[in-house]
Amino acid sequence: MTPFQRRYVAAAGLGDILDKVLAGGRLSAGDGMTLYRHPDLLAVGVLANEVRERQHGSVTYYIVNQHINHTNICVAGCKFCAFYRTDKQKDAYVLSPLDVERRMLEHAEQPIREIHMVGGVNPDLPFSYYLDIIRTMKRVRPEVHVKAFTMVEIAAMAENFDMTPEDVLRQLKDAGLGSIPGGGAEILTDHAHQVLFKGKIDHRGWMEIAKTAHRLGLKSNATMMYGHVETLEERIDHMLLLREAQDETGGFMAFIPLAFHPENTRLSHLNKPSASDELRNLAVGRLMLDNFPHIKAYWIMMTPRVAQAGLHFGADDLDGTVVTEEIYHRAGSTSPQMISVRQMIALIEEAGRVPVERDTLYNPIGSVPRRPSTDPRAVPPSPVDTIVARENAPGV
Ligand code: SF4
Repeated sequence: MTPFQRRYVAAAGLGDILDKVLAGGRLSAGDGMTLYRHPDLLAVGVLANEVRERQHGSVTYYIVNQHINHTNICVAGCKFCAFYRTDKQKDAYVLSPLDVERRMLEHAEQPIREIHMVGGVNPDLPFSYYLDIIRTMKRVRPEVHVKAFTMVEIAAMAENFDMTPEDVLRQLKDAGLGSIPGGGAEILTDHAHQVLFKGKIDHRGWMEIAKTAHRLGLKSNATMMYGHVETLEERIDHMLLLREAQDETGGFMAFIPLAFHPENTRLSHLNKPSASDELRNLAVGRLMLDNFPHIKAYWIMMTPRVAQAGLHFGADDLDGTVVTEEIYHRAGSTSPQMISVRQMIALIEEAGRVPVERDTLYNPIGSVPRRPSTDPRAVPPSPVDTIVARENAPGV
């Protein structure tokens, strides 16, 4: 942080939080509320950027991935959802393992490293369906990482098939599941649960499954869908629950704030959150979740341009190329269905950041710019560590 930025943040009345951030201290719930209510978004962004650059320098991650939604039939009936259908509706669908294989083969020429798969809570599917889907994906592309099923879907499988969540996760993992996406969290409070999504698990259930997955060696992300009926205090409560769980398991990779898209939902009278709200949620997330390694600006929800700006408000990851996205496009997302690797790299470079392709677990892939060591016995530093150390060196 430059001396000018320090003076600017202190002059904005955020000196106490600045001191904590510079000392690597933990922010309180009250600090979080100050950051949400503060009129100077740029000052909040400067603070978040300080943490982002201390951890990642200019490195910005992306992944070449494909999204597949295996079914839109769902019995949970969340009020904010434009994706789900009942089994009687004309456009209800379930993809068979063969359909999934076809979708993957349509993009066989692309170096896809991850399949991101989530769907509705569909009680008519047998447990073998989920195992078959995962095995199919691993057969078609053995190198691909399967990141699939929200905590909500896993809870429903446990209930429908009279299994414990641990048994469900173990069997999915044995079939080839690599990690869990982290959706379905929405806002982890009783109020939001009662008003919006009481047909599915509450925050206790969501957290129990997340922690179980982490204990079994399955990493996950954690989302936060905001901009509907929740208060700012509830957003902070959500982050504090995640931070506490992360202290316990260390299993979360990225925090992903998702702006609510009201179109075609039962909350279509609400306004979509503004771009400044989107940037602020990235920044507050970066500052409150000091134990989360990554903050993701999910371009599908934010649009590529706002996500790009988010790279200066705490985000260090833009997610992936995606290929076909259904859930947010049905709710009015105006983002494209996919972006190419070239467009992704351009987005990151235009923001003055360094693009680094990653796998699902944030291992860098390919050639990241690095300085070779002159000591033949030296263990080479990771390419990303090299960039971060170079950028954070005194005097740079
Ligand atoms: S958000 Fe998920 S669980 Fe809720 S209705 Fe939509 S598909 Fe079903």
